[in-house]
Amino acid sequence: MLPVVALVGRPNVGKSTLFNRLTRTRDALVADFPGLTRDRKYGSVDYEGLEFIVVDTGGIDGSEEGIELEMAEQSLRAIDEADIVLFMVDARTGVNGADSAIANHIRRINKKVFVVANKTDGLDADTAIADFYSLGIGEVYPIAAAHGRGVTNLLQQALVPLLSESQAARLAAYEAGEPLEPVDEDAEKLARDLHIKLAIVGRPNVGKSTLTNRILGEERVIVFDMPGTTRDSIYIPMERGDRKYTLIDTAGVRRRGKIDDVVEKFSVVKTLQAIEDANVVILVLDAQQGISDQDLSILGFVLNSGRSLVIAVNKWDGLNDSIKDEVKRELDRRLGFIDFARLHFISALHGSGVGNLFESVEEAFDSATRRVSTALLTKIMTMAQEDHQPPLVKGRRVKLKYAHAGGYNPPLIVIHGNQVEDLPDSYKRYLMNYFRKSLQMMGTPVRVEFRGGE
Ligand code: GDP
Ligand code: GDP
Repeated sequence: MLPVVALVGRPNVGKSTLFNRLTRTRDALVADFPGLTRDRKYGSVDYEGLEFIVVDTGGIDGSEEGIELEMAEQSLRAIDEADIVLFMVDARTGVNGADSAIANHIRRINKKVFVVANKTDGLDADTAIADFYSLGIGEVYPIAAAHGRGVTNLLQQALVPLLSESQAARLAAYEAGEPLEPVDEDAEKLARDLHIKLAIVGRPNVGKSTLTNRILGEERVIVFDMPGTTRDSIYIPMERGDRKYTLIDTAGVRRRGKIDDVVEKFSVVKTLQAIEDANVVILVLDAQQGISDQDLSILGFVLNSGRSLVIAVNKWDGLNDSIKDEVKRELDRRLGFIDFARLHFISALHGSGVGNLFESVEEAFDSATRRVSTALLTKIMTMAQEDHQPPLVKGRRVKLKYAHAGGYNPPLIVIHGNQVEDLPDSYKRYLMNYFRKSLQMMGTPVRVEFRGGE
């Protein structure tokens, strides 16, 4: 599970600046869920070898009356979801009343909290942070979010104890300046028990609960007693045919009766965690509502994670043909760029199309975990090169030498050659698609990495 980091503090201390710095990295994606989550903003971050989810809580205006209320209404939820709270203060202004009020709350929460003194640029760091020990929270870390100073150090202090073994190894490799080798642990584990972790995600009311119930109610499904739950998602072991699954239920079906806050049964963090934890994700869309920005945000997180994906366009019942055509055109227009995911038109309510969904789930899982030999990958690479020569770069023709697998789930193909780093993106895409088609991989993204200098 990725650690969740919440940024908390009064307005103007630099939370957005830090959030932007963290999420501006290559793979970052930010989801804004206005209304649903008020001022919270979510990003999935890959920052110099550290992977985590960051939540910006927006401002807590401590100078207002009733800070308790303000905190309860938005930041407390974010803090609740977090593993680590970064309590940001302004090194230029020193401690003020609002900081103390927030500190009083934070001290009572049983969470790992780090005080982050921002805007230390041009200041003597030791002097700048001294004041903030009076907040009684603990260690104070000086940073200058606008310039990136101190950020990596802070994150390493805060995050390292929470990292999984594979993440820690990745970070160590990163720090040693080694190229990032994908960790193959997951693939090894998968090969042993071929156990599909399937997450059902989507914005509120698209029909996740209905779909989950439909799946669990199928005669062909054997549902086992549930072990402990993680976060708020429920992990339900089941068997379907000769396949073992764990259904990751983000909709909270089993506890539905207990949930009174209908909107907040949906949680972005829960969704992100479920995606990270899954092998295959079913993204549920609502045909009757069309595609919204929230759908695209969640889709963005799935793409960013590299997970296998099947798209279920739900509520396909009761639509007339002209509306169906219209929905299909909209899907083409807005989702056409995802060429690897299968699209299914289903009715979770009536059960139509749900069985076929599983064919695509299994296909996606098998594609994502399939072992492909160096010989075969090199052969496909050679064919691609013969069909379509790499371009000249600086007067020399780029030469591809050999290819091998660098990881699975999603499949990573590593290509070695001369000057391969200089290949234009269009050729890189060509190669990626060539591999995907030749290997008949469906439902999973395929990544290609280039190594030169030989
Ligand atoms: P938020 O309200 O807590 O999200 O704060 P913002 O990120 O919007 O920042 C408030 C102001 O502080 C902006 O004008 C930023 O440019 C400025 N700021 C943020 N980080 C730094 C920093 O490291 N050094 C300095 N000098 N200014 C900063
Ligand atoms: P969730 O918030 O994503 O878990 O959505 P729910 O499963 O609670 O469904 C939201 C609403 O859509 C409920 O009123 C469902 O009965 C309805 N619904 C779910 N699936 C379908 C479907 O396939 N067709 C129709 N017409 N309605 C559906």
